[in-house]
Amino acid sequence: MTSLDSLIVLLVIAGGLAIAFYIFKRRGGVAKKQCGYCRSMVRYNALHCPKCGYEFIIG
Ligand SMILES: [Zn+2]
Repeated sequence: MTSLDSLIVLLVIAGGLAIAFYIFKRRGGVAKKQCGYCRSMVRYNALHCPKCGYEFIIG
């Protein structure tokens, strides 16, 4: 195995991880919820709506 071969292997692994991470994000890795006031989609763990400022009650 030459150093070039190992470099290619590393690139393939890095590329695979990048694709897996991309799919994870696309599939809603960051969960969202709907603002009860303006109905825009916001991050699930947001404390308030970034659009209208509505505060969420987190139980
Ligand atoms: Zn809102």
